[in-house]
Amino acid sequence: MNKEHWNNIYEMVSAKPIINAIGSVTMLGGSTPIPEVKRAMDLADSSYIPLIELEEKAGEFLSDFIGVPAAYITSGAGSALTLATAAIMAGDDDQLIEQLPNTDGMKNEILIQKKHRYWYDRCLEAAGAKLIEFGSEIKTTEKDLEEAINAKTAGVHFTMYEQNTDPNALSLEKTIEIAHSHNLPVLVDAAGQIYPLENFGKYVKMGADFQCIAAKYLGASQSSGLALGTKDMIRKISKQSFVGYEGRRIRGIGRPHKVDRQEMMGVVAAVQNWLTMDHETRLSNIEEQSTTLINILSKCPYIEATMIDNIIGHQPFGVKISIKKHKLTVHDLVNLLKNGSPSIWTRVVGENDFIEIHMFGLKAGEEKIVGEKIVEIFE
Ligand SMILES: *Cc1c(COP(=O)(O)O)cnc(C)c1O
Repeated sequence: MNKEHWNNIYEMVSAKPIINAIGSVTMLGGSTPIPEVKRAMDLADSSYIPLIELEEKAGEFLSDFIGVPAAYITSGAGSALTLATAAIMAGDDDQLIEQLPNTDGMKNEILIQKKHRYWYDRCLEAAGAKLIEFGSEIKTTEKDLEEAINAKTAGVHFTMYEQNTDPNALSLEKTIEIAHSHNLPVLVDAAGQIYPLENFGKYVKMGADFQCIAAKYLGASQSSGLALGTKDMIRKISKQSFVGYEGRRIRGIGRPHKVDRQEMMGVVAAVQNWLTMDHETRLSNIEEQSTTLINILSKCPYIEATMIDNIIGHQPFGVKISIKKHKLTVHDLVNLLKNGSPSIWTRVVGENDFIEIHMFGLKAGEEKIVGEKIVEIFE
């Protein structure tokens, strides 16, 4: 790859960029900030501003814009989960806020459906909470939740993934109904639930006390994110945050979850852009990139490439690639692409026997490089 393709900033430290055909993943850089965000960040740089106040004002602006009671900017959706967990355990009690992550004497159990265990649930434990599973791998019932609730229960967590709703999981409606009948808050990880637009903030509107959104999916820096929730919940989160630590002189666990002013204004710009942009054009561009890749791959007799038809969430369309009548496995192909020049990163998720390519991290035209490279490997 030549220097016109990649800015050469990384050469100074002898590190090499790659082509990202995986999608929005943290380990490669979760997003490329859009021009609107870069501009907002640049403008916000020039002055200092009391951040306790900026958090409050930007939160109010965003909550009005999104149509939820309250909002708070965090250093990512993962940070929002940790702060929210701390918030429901310690509440408004400054002594408890300073005691965490030691939870002695507090309600410290967060209930989670066994079916909802996932990579990021560790972010809840980071506040000092214990995850308690209910239901089985096969099914979760109302009774499972009812029976899991006890005097140590602090709240119920729900992992929302509308792209792939599980009919045997306990629904969010039922979870909210049961949890609230026991005066327990409900936390929803909706980090990627940003499209269709009515899903943006939907879970708080449905009655959940908290939901997070990852700003990496909106074209802001991947080190930023959003907590949405009730006024009560967001006030408690603000007390856990780094500005609470510095501004209120209360030593909570949120001090390392720092967000700077330009990141805050970057999130504001990203949300504004996302909720007002032309999504039909966005989707049709991604569909076209996916089609281009499929057309190139159709020249290779050993590849079966099909369009993924999902448009819900943060990563619409994309291409499913499997190998037929050839000794190479999909894992071999992932490695060959990674070790090639330029290095192209793809992945096989879990036990799948196919590669899933997403356009999220591909610059316009890079889908051609990916397609041609794959065809070349099989020639
Ligand atoms: C990306 C993601 C997270 C973590 O968000 P960050 O902003 O990277 O901290 C949490 N949950 C889900 C479902 C995600 O997709």
